[in-house]
Amino acid sequence: MASSSLSSLSLPCFSAKTKTLILPSSQFLSPLSSIPQSRRSVSTLRPVSTLRPVSPISAVQLEAQITKNPSKPAPLLPFRVGHGFDLHRLEPDRPLIIGGIDIPHDRGCDAHSDGDVLLHCVVDAILGALGLPDIGQIFPDSDPKWKGAASSVFMREAVKLMHEAGYELGNLDATLILQRPKLSPHKEEIRANLCELLGADPAVVNLKAKTHEKVDSLGENRSIACHTVVLLMRK
Ligand SMILES: [Zn+2]
Repeated sequence: MASSSLSSLSLPCFSAKTKTLILPSSQFLSPLSSIPQSRRSVSTLRPVSTLRPVSPISAVQLEAQITKNPSKPAPLLPFRVGHGFDLHRLEPDRPLIIGGIDIPHDRGCDAHSDGDVLLHCVVDAILGALGLPDIGQIFPDSDPKWKGAASSVFMREAVKLMHEAGYELGNLDATLILQRPKLSPHKEEIRANLCELLGADPAVVNLKAKTHEKVDSLGENRSIACHTVVLLMRK
């Protein structure tokens, strides 16, 4: 649809071909409502070849710069929705960290960072809502700086980007999928820590957990996965 194409181009977009972020020109940072209905079509957009490519790292800073520059107002979409998904392999003799909480188990996540599947998933959902690259591109696992890093670092960065873009959390719904261990004894502690990292009221942060009916790697205690949906609201 034309309007959704336009809105998706009004925040930075990532070019897989050149591995760079494409920032929209100020013309596309105008609120959708300021563009006449008759002109809300892809044909009003500048060809991608004329857009300005930047490196993924500097794009984060540029995004903040754009939202702070009054001559280039950020889009005034009242809501933005983001989806996150993450999966990690479970290996023996590793800690199982979920939502920043160390969960007793005979195995944990195999990952470059602490392998916190819930926090990675929430970060990706927030970045997705903001139209930014995913967690692996902003915090690449090829960078030794992130080896063994606590995922709370990624969370705080994503929350900072959300506020800099002029948004706050509307609500969040996350579903963890794992066969073992049972998460019910730990769920409230995980949720409380997630709320603290998000700076959010517990009333808008929902956490669910389910098994995978003993099928596939998730059901055989060989992996853990998470899905998250977030709604961001313009401040
Ligand atoms: Zn992950």
